[in-house]
Amino acid sequence: MAYNLVVFVKHVPDTKRVTGEAMKEDGTVNRAALDMIFNPEDLYALEAAVSLKERYGGRVTVVTMGPPQAAERLRESLERGADDAILLTDRRAAASDTLATSYILSSLVRRLHSERPVDMIICGRQAIDGDTAQVPPQTAEKLGWPQVTYVEEIEEVADGTVRARRNTGRGWERVECPLPCLVTVTDRAPAARPAAAKRVMAVKKARVRSELEREVAGAMPDAPAEEQAAEVRRRAEALEARGLLIRQWSLDDFKVDLAWCGRDGSPTKVKRIQSVVLKGSGFKVIDPTPDAIASMVHELIEDHTIG
Ligand SMILES: Cc1cc2nc3c(=O)[nH]c(=O)nc-3n(C[C@H](O)[C@H](O)[C@H](O)COP(=O)(O)OP(=O)(O)OC[C@H]3O[C@@H](n4cnc5c(N)ncnc54)[C@H](O)[C@@H]3O)c2cc1C
Repeated sequence: MAYNLVVFVKHVPDTKRVTGEAMKEDGTVNRAALDMIFNPEDLYALEAAVSLKERYGGRVTVVTMGPPQAAERLRESLERGADDAILLTDRRAAASDTLATSYILSSLVRRLHSERPVDMIICGRQAIDGDTAQVPPQTAEKLGWPQVTYVEEIEEVADGTVRARRNTGRGWERVECPLPCLVTVTDRAPAARPAAAKRVMAVKKARVRSELEREVAGAMPDAPAEEQAAEVRRRAEALEARGLLIRQWSLDDFKVDLAWCGRDGSPTKVKRIQSVVLKGSGFKVIDPTPDAIASMVHELIEDHTIG
Protein backbone atom coordinates (compact mmCIF):
# COMPACT_ATOMS: atom_id res chain seq x y z
CA MET A 1 0.00 0.00 0.00
CA ALA A 2 1.33 3.43 -0.97
CA TYR A 3 1.38 6.25 1.60
CA ASN A 4 0.81 9.97 1.28
CA LEU A 5 3.46 11.54 3.52
CA VAL A 6 3.93 15.18 4.51
CA VAL A 7 7.22 16.39 6.00
CA PHE A 8 7.53 19.68 7.92
CA VAL A 9 10.89 21.39 7.53
CA LYS A 10 12.06 24.66 9.04
CA HIS A 11 14.55 27.16 7.60
CA VAL A 12 16.65 28.14 10.62
CA PRO A 13 19.72 30.24 11.49
CA ASP A 14 22.89 28.20 12.01
CA THR A 15 23.01 28.64 15.77
CA LYS A 16 26.31 26.70 15.99
CA ARG A 17 28.08 29.61 14.33
CA VAL A 18 26.76 32.41 16.48
CA THR A 19 28.90 35.56 16.50
CA GLY A 20 28.61 38.81 18.44
CA GLU A 21 26.32 40.18 15.72
CA ALA A 22 23.87 37.32 16.06
CA MET A 23 21.75 39.22 18.56
CA LYS A 24 20.14 42.57 18.01
CA GLU A 25 20.20 45.17 20.78
CA ASP A 26 16.68 44.21 21.80
CA GLY A 27 17.89 40.64 22.37
CA THR A 28 16.14 39.13 19.34
CA VAL A 29 17.92 37.03 16.70
CA ASN A 30 19.63 39.01 13.94
CA ARG A 31 18.78 36.55 11.14
CA ALA A 32 20.67 38.64 8.58
CA ALA A 33 23.97 37.98 10.42
CA LEU A 34 23.60 34.19 10.44
CA ASP A 35 23.76 31.57 7.69
CA MET A 36 20.44 29.85 7.21
CA ILE A 37 20.32 26.06 7.16
CA PHE A 38 17.98 23.06 7.13
CA ASN A 39 16.83 22.45 10.68
CA PRO A 40 19.09 19.44 11.45
CA GLU A 41 16.43 17.04 12.77
CA ASP A 42 14.18 17.79 9.80
CA LEU A 43 16.74 16.07 7.58
CA TYR A 44 16.12 12.89 9.59
CA ALA A 45 12.36 13.40 9.14
CA LEU A 46 12.83 13.74 5.39
CA GLU A 47 14.98 10.61 5.28
CA ALA A 48 12.32 8.66 7.20
CA ALA A 49 9.67 9.74 4.69
CA VAL A 50 11.78 8.98 1.61
CA SER A 51 12.67 5.53 3.01
CA LEU A 52 8.97 4.75 3.61
CA LYS A 53 8.20 5.83 0.05
CA GLU A 54 10.94 3.55 -1.29
CA ARG A 55 9.65 0.64 0.76
CA TYR A 56 5.90 0.98 0.24
CA GLY A 57 5.46 3.50 -2.59
CA GLY A 58 3.61 6.77 -2.26
CA ARG A 59 4.44 10.43 -2.25
CA VAL A 60 6.46 12.81 -0.08
CA THR A 61 5.35 16.45 0.10
CA VAL A 62 7.58 18.85 2.02
CA VAL A 63 6.02 21.91 3.65
CA THR A 64 7.79 24.91 5.11
CA MET A 65 6.39 28.11 6.56
CA GLY A 66 8.85 30.94 6.37
CA PRO A 67 10.27 33.77 4.26
CA PRO A 68 10.70 33.36 0.47
CA GLN A 69 14.36 32.37 1.09
CA ALA A 70 13.07 29.15 2.70
CA ALA A 71 12.52 27.93 -0.88
CA GLU A 72 16.20 26.92 -0.72
CA ARG A 73 15.24 24.22 1.82
CA LEU A 74 12.52 22.98 -0.52
CA ARG A 75 14.95 22.61 -3.43
CA GLU A 76 17.25 20.73 -1.08
CA SER A 77 14.34 18.46 -0.10
CA LEU A 78 13.57 17.72 -3.75
CA GLU A 79 17.25 16.93 -4.30
CA ARG A 80 17.09 14.47 -1.40
CA GLY A 81 14.08 12.59 -2.71
CA ALA A 82 10.88 14.56 -2.00
CA ASP A 83 8.31 14.58 -4.82
CA ASP A 84 6.60 17.85 -4.14
CA ALA A 85 7.01 20.96 -2.00
CA ILE A 86 4.97 23.88 -0.70
CA LEU A 87 6.30 27.20 0.56
CA LEU A 88 3.84 28.94 2.82
CA THR A 89 4.93 32.54 2.94
CA ASP A 90 2.78 35.44 4.05
CA ARG A 91 3.56 38.60 6.00
CA ARG A 92 0.41 37.97 8.04
CA ALA A 93 2.05 34.77 9.35
CA ALA A 94 5.23 36.56 10.50
CA ALA A 95 6.05 36.51 14.25
CA SER A 96 3.83 33.47 14.80
CA ASP A 97 4.56 31.65 18.02
CA THR A 98 4.10 27.89 18.28
CA LEU A 99 0.35 28.20 18.82
CA ALA A 100 -0.13 30.25 15.64
CA THR A 101 2.42 28.21 13.65
CA SER A 102 0.72 24.93 14.50
CA TYR A 103 -2.69 26.46 13.74
CA ILE A 104 -1.51 27.59 10.30
CA LEU A 105 0.31 24.32 9.49
CA SER A 106 -2.63 22.18 10.65
CA SER A 107 -4.99 24.29 8.49
CA LEU A 108 -2.70 23.76 5.50
CA VAL A 109 -2.64 20.00 6.12
CA ARG A 110 -6.47 20.02 6.30
CA ARG A 111 -6.53 21.33 2.74
CA LEU A 112 -4.02 18.70 1.57
CA HIS A 113 -5.97 15.99 3.41
CA SER A 114 -9.23 17.04 1.74
CA GLU A 115 -7.60 16.78 -1.70
CA ARG A 116 -5.86 13.46 -1.03
CA PRO A 117 -5.91 11.79 2.40
CA VAL A 118 -2.61 12.27 4.22
CA ASP A 119 -1.39 9.15 6.06
CA MET A 120 1.41 10.63 8.12
CA ILE A 121 3.08 13.95 8.94
CA ILE A 122 6.76 13.51 9.81
CA CYS A 123 8.61 16.32 11.60
CA GLY A 124 11.92 16.91 13.30
CA ARG A 125 11.64 16.68 17.08
CA GLN A 126 12.79 20.25 17.69
CA ALA A 127 13.95 23.36 15.83
CA ILE A 128 17.36 24.77 16.79
CA ASP A 129 16.17 28.39 16.94
CA GLY A 130 12.82 28.50 18.73
CA ASP A 131 13.82 25.25 20.48
CA THR A 132 10.39 24.48 21.89
CA ALA A 133 9.50 21.10 20.28
CA GLN A 134 5.88 22.25 20.55
CA VAL A 135 4.83 22.73 16.92
CA PRO A 136 4.40 19.04 15.99
CA PRO A 137 2.42 18.00 19.11
CA GLN A 138 0.22 21.11 18.81
CA THR A 139 -0.38 20.37 15.12
CA ALA A 140 -1.45 16.79 15.90
CA GLU A 141 -3.71 18.06 18.66
CA LYS A 142 -5.39 20.57 16.33
CA LEU A 143 -5.94 17.93 13.66
CA GLY A 144 -7.23 15.48 16.27
CA TRP A 145 -4.61 12.94 15.11
CA PRO A 146 -2.55 10.69 17.39
CA GLN A 147 1.18 11.39 17.63
CA VAL A 148 4.36 9.44 18.27
CA THR A 149 7.25 11.64 19.40
CA TYR A 150 11.02 11.04 19.80
CA VAL A 151 11.04 8.29 17.18
CA GLU A 152 14.37 6.58 16.43
CA GLU A 153 13.05 4.19 13.84
CA ILE A 154 9.85 3.71 11.92
CA GLU A 155 9.89 -0.07 11.78
CA GLU A 156 6.82 -0.84 9.75
CA VAL A 157 3.59 0.55 8.38
CA ALA A 158 0.91 -2.06 7.81
CA ASP A 159 -2.85 -2.53 8.21
CA GLY A 160 -3.40 1.17 8.86
CA THR A 161 -0.90 1.18 11.73
CA VAL A 162 2.64 2.50 12.15
CA ARG A 163 5.04 0.60 14.39
CA ALA A 164 7.90 2.70 15.70
CA ARG A 165 10.68 2.64 18.26
CA ARG A 166 10.76 5.79 20.37
CA ASN A 167 13.36 7.06 22.75
CA THR A 168 12.22 7.41 26.35
CA GLY A 169 15.32 9.12 27.69
CA ARG A 170 16.53 6.05 29.60
CA GLY A 171 15.85 3.49 26.90
CA TRP A 172 13.29 2.90 24.22
CA GLU A 173 9.81 1.54 23.73
CA ARG A 174 8.02 0.07 20.74
CA VAL A 175 4.65 1.67 20.03
CA GLU A 176 1.85 1.17 17.54
CA CYS A 177 -0.30 4.00 16.32
CA PRO A 178 -3.20 4.16 13.88
CA LEU A 179 -2.98 6.28 10.72
CA PRO A 180 -3.34 9.13 10.03
CA CYS A 181 -0.87 10.28 12.63
CA LEU A 182 2.04 12.63 13.26
CA VAL A 183 5.55 11.41 14.05
CA THR A 184 8.56 13.39 15.27
CA VAL A 185 12.01 11.93 14.74
CA THR A 186 15.27 12.55 16.56
CA ASP A 187 18.86 12.56 15.35
CA ARG A 188 19.15 8.89 16.41
CA ALA A 189 17.07 7.96 13.37
CA PRO A 190 18.87 6.94 10.16
CA ALA A 191 20.84 9.90 8.79
CA ALA A 192 19.79 11.71 5.66
CA ARG A 193 21.25 10.46 2.43
CA PRO A 194 23.31 12.96 0.44
CA ALA A 195 21.58 14.74 -2.41
CA ALA A 196 21.84 12.67 -5.60
CA ALA A 197 23.79 14.47 -8.34
CA LYS A 198 21.13 13.55 -10.91
CA ARG A 199 18.37 15.08 -8.81
CA VAL A 200 20.49 18.18 -8.05
CA MET A 201 20.75 18.79 -11.79
CA ALA A 202 17.05 18.03 -12.31
CA VAL A 203 15.74 20.48 -9.72
CA LYS A 204 18.34 23.23 -9.77
CA LYS A 205 16.03 25.43 -11.86
CA ALA A 206 12.96 24.82 -9.64
CA ARG A 207 11.61 28.11 -8.31
CA VAL A 208 8.79 29.59 -6.27
CA ARG A 209 6.92 32.55 -7.72
CA SER A 210 8.55 35.15 -5.40
CA GLU A 211 12.01 34.04 -6.60
CA LEU A 212 10.87 34.54 -10.19
CA GLU A 213 9.63 38.03 -9.28
CA ARG A 214 13.02 38.89 -7.77
CA GLU A 215 14.91 37.49 -10.74
CA VAL A 216 12.73 39.36 -13.24
CA ALA A 217 13.03 42.63 -11.29
CA GLY A 218 16.83 42.18 -11.39
CA ALA A 219 16.91 41.32 -15.09
CA MET A 220 14.52 44.09 -16.30
CA PRO A 221 14.75 46.82 -13.63
CA ASP A 222 13.39 49.57 -15.89
CA ALA A 223 10.48 47.63 -17.35
CA PRO A 224 6.99 48.71 -16.29
CA ALA A 225 5.27 46.58 -13.64
CA GLU A 226 2.84 44.96 -16.15
CA GLU A 227 5.74 43.89 -18.37
CA GLN A 228 7.56 42.40 -15.39
CA ALA A 229 4.38 40.59 -14.29
CA ALA A 230 3.92 39.17 -17.80
CA GLU A 231 7.52 37.92 -17.79
CA VAL A 232 7.01 36.30 -14.36
CA ARG A 233 3.87 34.57 -15.74
CA ARG A 234 5.78 33.39 -18.81
CA ARG A 235 8.64 31.97 -16.73
CA ALA A 236 6.20 30.37 -14.25
CA GLU A 237 4.27 28.64 -17.03
CA ALA A 238 7.49 27.37 -18.61
CA LEU A 239 8.63 25.94 -15.26
CA GLU A 240 5.21 24.46 -14.52
CA ALA A 241 5.25 22.63 -17.85
CA ARG A 242 8.50 20.98 -16.73
CA GLY A 243 7.21 20.24 -13.21
CA LEU A 244 9.67 22.76 -11.74
CA LEU A 245 7.34 25.40 -10.32
CA ILE A 246 7.34 24.95 -6.55
CA ARG A 247 3.95 25.78 -5.08
CA GLN A 248 3.88 29.03 -3.13
CA TRP A 249 0.84 29.48 -0.91
CA SER A 250 -0.37 32.37 1.19
CA LEU A 251 -2.93 32.34 3.99
CA ASP A 252 -5.59 32.91 1.29
CA ASP A 253 -4.96 29.44 -0.15
CA PHE A 254 -6.65 27.52 2.65
CA LYS A 255 -9.21 28.20 5.34
CA VAL A 256 -7.82 30.12 8.32
CA ASP A 257 -9.08 32.68 10.79
CA LEU A 258 -6.53 35.52 10.54
CA ALA A 259 -7.11 36.38 14.19
CA TRP A 260 -5.23 33.15 15.05
CA CYS A 261 -2.24 33.88 12.79
CA GLY A 262 0.96 35.91 13.07
CA ARG A 263 1.62 38.40 15.84
CA ASP A 264 -2.08 38.89 16.66
CA GLY A 265 -2.63 35.17 17.08
CA SER A 266 0.48 34.69 19.22
CA PRO A 267 0.11 35.02 22.98
CA THR A 268 3.89 34.40 23.43
CA LYS A 269 6.12 37.42 22.95
CA VAL A 270 9.90 36.77 22.88
CA LYS A 271 11.23 39.80 24.78
CA ARG A 272 14.83 38.77 25.32
CA ILE A 273 17.13 35.83 24.60
CA GLN A 274 19.61 34.96 27.30
CA SER A 275 22.22 32.31 27.63
CA VAL A 276 21.53 30.78 31.03
CA VAL A 277 24.07 28.55 32.73
CA LEU A 278 22.51 26.62 35.57
CA LYS A 279 24.80 25.98 38.51
CA GLY A 280 24.03 23.68 41.42
CA SER A 281 24.52 25.46 44.72
CA GLY A 282 23.90 22.60 47.12
CA PHE A 283 21.51 19.77 47.70
CA LYS A 284 18.81 18.75 50.07
CA VAL A 285 18.05 15.20 51.13
CA ILE A 286 14.39 14.27 51.44
CA ASP A 287 12.68 11.08 52.51
CA PRO A 288 11.40 9.00 49.60
CA THR A 289 7.79 9.26 50.80
CA PRO A 290 4.80 10.73 48.90
CA ASP A 291 4.37 13.45 51.55
CA ALA A 292 8.02 14.54 51.47
CA ILE A 293 8.04 14.59 47.65
CA ALA A 294 4.76 16.56 47.52
CA SER A 295 6.20 19.06 50.00
CA MET A 296 9.39 19.45 47.92
CA VAL A 297 7.37 20.02 44.72
CA HIS A 298 5.26 22.59 46.57
CA GLU A 299 8.42 24.37 47.73
CA LEU A 300 9.89 24.42 44.21
CA ILE A 301 6.66 25.90 42.82
CA GLU A 302 6.58 28.55 45.55
CA ASP A 303 10.19 29.48 44.67
CA HIS A 304 9.26 29.64 40.97
CA THR A 305 11.96 27.04 40.32
CA ILE A 306 9.36 24.99 38.47
CA GLY A 307 5.77 25.64 37.40
C1 LIG B 1 15.04 32.45 20.04
C2 LIG B 1 13.57 32.19 19.85
C3 LIG B 1 12.81 31.85 20.96
C4 LIG B 1 11.46 31.55 20.80
N1 LIG B 1 10.74 31.20 21.89
C5 LIG B 1 9.43 30.89 21.76
C6 LIG B 1 8.66 30.48 22.89
O1 LIG B 1 9.15 30.42 24.01
N2 LIG B 1 7.35 30.18 22.68
C7 LIG B 1 6.76 30.22 21.42
O2 LIG B 1 5.57 29.92 21.28
N3 LIG B 1 7.48 30.61 20.33
C8 LIG B 1 8.77 30.95 20.47
N4 LIG B 1 9.50 31.34 19.38
C9 LIG B 1 8.86 31.37 18.08
C10 LIG B 1 9.03 30.02 17.40
O3 LIG B 1 10.32 29.86 16.88
C11 LIG B 1 8.10 29.94 16.25
O4 LIG B 1 6.79 29.87 16.69
C12 LIG B 1 8.34 28.77 15.35
O5 LIG B 1 7.50 28.96 14.21
C13 LIG B 1 8.08 27.38 15.88
O6 LIG B 1 8.64 27.06 17.09
P1 LIG B 1 10.01 26.26 17.28
O7 LIG B 1 11.05 26.97 16.51
O8 LIG B 1 10.20 26.11 18.73
O9 LIG B 1 9.72 24.86 16.56
P2 LIG B 1 9.74 23.39 17.20
O10 LIG B 1 8.41 23.11 17.80
O11 LIG B 1 10.95 23.15 18.06
O12 LIG B 1 9.92 22.57 15.83
C14 LIG B 1 9.77 21.18 15.78
C15 LIG B 1 9.48 20.78 14.35
O13 LIG B 1 8.28 21.38 13.88
C16 LIG B 1 8.39 21.69 12.49
N5 LIG B 1 8.31 23.14 12.31
C17 LIG B 1 8.48 24.11 13.23
N6 LIG B 1 8.34 25.32 12.67
C18 LIG B 1 8.06 25.11 11.36
C19 LIG B 1 7.83 25.95 10.24
N7 LIG B 1 7.86 27.28 10.35
N8 LIG B 1 7.60 25.39 9.03
C20 LIG B 1 7.55 24.04 8.89
N9 LIG B 1 7.80 23.19 9.91
C21 LIG B 1 8.04 23.71 11.13
C22 LIG B 1 9.75 21.16 12.05
O14 LIG B 1 9.62 19.81 11.62
C23 LIG B 1 10.56 21.22 13.36
O15 LIG B 1 11.66 20.33 13.41
C24 LIG B 1 10.84 31.64 19.52
C25 LIG B 1 11.63 31.99 18.42
C26 LIG B 1 12.97 32.27 18.57
C27 LIG B 1 13.79 32.64 17.36
